[in-house]
Amino acid sequence: MNFRDSEALKAVLEADGHTLVDNESEADLVLLNTCSVRDCAEAKAIGKARRLLQNKRTNLRYRLGIIGCMAARRGQQLTKLLPQLDWVLPPTSLNDIPHIIQETLRTNTPKVITNFQSYNFACYEQPLPFTPVRWIPIQQGCSMGCSYCIVPHTRGHQQNRPFDSILREIQTAADQGTREIILLGQIVNAYRDNGKTFVDLLHAIQAIDGIERIRFISPHPTFFTDQLIQCFKTLPKCCPSVHLPIQSASNRILQHMHRGYTQETLTALIQALRTIQPQLSLSTDLIVGYPGETDADFEQTVQFFKKIQFDMAYIFKYSPRPNTPAAELVAVHGIPKDVQEKRNQVLLDCLSQSSLRYNQQFVHTYQSVLVEGHAPKGAHKLFGRTIVNKKVIFDGDPSLIGSFQSVWIERATTSVLEGCIKPV
Ligand code: SF4
Repeated sequence: MNFRDSEALKAVLEADGHTLVDNESEADLVLLNTCSVRDCAEAKAIGKARRLLQNKRTNLRYRLGIIGCMAARRGQQLTKLLPQLDWVLPPTSLNDIPHIIQETLRTNTPKVITNFQSYNFACYEQPLPFTPVRWIPIQQGCSMGCSYCIVPHTRGHQQNRPFDSILREIQTAADQGTREIILLGQIVNAYRDNGKTFVDLLHAIQAIDGIERIRFISPHPTFFTDQLIQCFKTLPKCCPSVHLPIQSASNRILQHMHRGYTQETLTALIQALRTIQPQLSLSTDLIVGYPGETDADFEQTVQFFKKIQFDMAYIFKYSPRPNTPAAELVAVHGIPKDVQEKRNQVLLDCLSQSSLRYNQQFVHTYQSVLVEGHAPKGAHKLFGRTIVNKKVIFDGDPSLIGSFQSVWIERATTSVLEGCIKPV
């Protein structure tokens, strides 16, 4: 979400006459878009802001703002820590930032906004440069109140983007040549607008010419209705890859987390998805070392992970976030760092086995790959993704970016497939 918010911010600033520079050392005005999900992300952003503020010594025009989740969470506290900051603005202020900047430059008065306004989703309709894949925010905030999560404190309660605004953005992207869209939201499948549901949205996107693939992230297991499961069969553009954040497979821990499901309901959901779509790729998020997690709780997660064989997972060591119910348990029930580390490693080992096994099935097959851009390493290397969201690296001409190519897969690692374009 932060990545897409930064894109929207660039677009609204450019529309207001600002010029983007390639190198931050050339900028007179810097806005740091921050994350609060983990303590280390906040510490890193504060360190960076402190370094950047040194530029004020030599550049009298230099202005620095902190925006995003950390700005929402810490508000005035940040200006005490970093008194030279010009702006501290929550994620709800994206649309207003050009106006706020003008005001500050005119009055030379720093601006700190600590209250949440409503989201104005108009910023996401600012034109963006063509990309083969477009991230489409469809909601902001979350009202689920998971015990460990800071999102409701930094982005507020769930607010849904108007249905028509979403479709307009997708139509514009399709007209530019975008072939894949990824719907974004904290509980994306809980989307609702004036009686229209997430499933209605998927059906409407299916009808847009030019868009060939639809993905979404992050759904909540609780909102996987039968109608949504059916979409993986009835809507050909709905890619057979689901990111299903489960966090734990211990019912005791899931209850503490207020996740609203059990290992049994997860098993039934995954079975239903795999029955409808046997080639489904399944990824997840897991937290290890949640306060009070016993060896037996953790073992249930390990066994569940092995049984399901997730082909990808983001595994996080629990990080206490202020003002969340779980953080209050840490003093008595906190899990020592070395135990967290050990559990993290156990799951990483399980993951490398399951992801390698999953990826190896594609070796010596042709895969349809949407070419997204230049691979970070290797001259002439391009990258793209298969329909089940596996990253593929191969040699190719940059003119292929944006097209579908049939790629012969030669090798698989735990994280990528490598191949080449060769005649069938
Ligand atoms: S559903 Fe996701 S974003 Fe919402 S509170 Fe739970 S973990 Fe946070």
